[in-house]
Amino acid sequence: MSRQPLFLKPVFQERIWGGTALREEFNYDIPSDKTGECWAISAHPNGMGIITNGEYEGKSLKELWDEHRELFGNAEGEQFPLLTKILDANDDLSVQVHPNDDYAKVHENGELGKTECWYIIDCDEDADMIFGHNAKTTAEVRAMIEAGEWSDFLRRVKIKPGDFFYVPSGTVHALCRGTLVLETQQSSDTTYRLYDYDRTDDQGNKRELHLEKSIDVITAPHQDTKTDIRVQEINGAKITTYVQNEFFSVYKWNVEKEATFTQDKAFMLVSVLNGEGILRHESGEYPIKRGMHFILPAEFGGFNVIGELELMVSHI
Ligand code: ZN
Repeated sequence: MSRQPLFLKPVFQERIWGGTALREEFNYDIPSDKTGECWAISAHPNGMGIITNGEYEGKSLKELWDEHRELFGNAEGEQFPLLTKILDANDDLSVQVHPNDDYAKVHENGELGKTECWYIIDCDEDADMIFGHNAKTTAEVRAMIEAGEWSDFLRRVKIKPGDFFYVPSGTVHALCRGTLVLETQQSSDTTYRLYDYDRTDDQGNKRELHLEKSIDVITAPHQDTKTDIRVQEINGAKITTYVQNEFFSVYKWNVEKEATFTQDKAFMLVSVLNGEGILRHESGEYPIKRGMHFILPAEFGGFNVIGELELMVSHI
């Protein structure tokens, strides 16, 4: 019997910078008006995805990864490698940096490092974000951080809907107020916070900073990542390729009426950003619509997508 897509139930995370866009934009049943993150496709213990259909209904993605590795093309690794999130930045996020795999392995109990990328689903008209810094050397990074020269140190870039940013480990970054983002990342929760705008909570406490680890891992000088974005028309779809590297490949598929695809990778992660329609496959017909997330398992093969849809797709 041919394999079915694995649909997942997202996990929501409340954050002090969160808002209500995940409900307003995607109709999700969010836990509060400060919901910051939808962990859409996750096998991370801090927010575990559960399968909602087919023979694996009710199983966690981690269980499938551990017990049915054949669904993932027998890909290697102790941990499921990817994590797809949607983030609603209703306020500025703290400025952070992530370690690479080697640093995380030594300093974070074998966690993965974190390289991530952002697709801007929507944002305020004059929105920006923090991406990189202006120090030339690690010594200068330390000096500027210790002197609190944040406005000189941090580099701001303007953003607009449809922009894509590749954020390798070692990159200083922060989403700013008024941004809705789909994030594809290595499955890791290792974040070093270097600046939180000196904000305090209701009790007057500041959030913890991790300055020494941040200085250890910040790439200096900042390296602007050149993304070579390609657009191709293939079998009825417009395919935008954003990144293809050792961590992940990320694409956007735009379908206007009907398109034919082949899942010939170990597995593919798919998020429906816009529209609704049908995924037609030899295993069945599956209604899909904005806000749904699923995995196409190994040997899924050919399938059609019918409808007007915008899908974000990733694989290792
Ligand atoms: Zn990050």
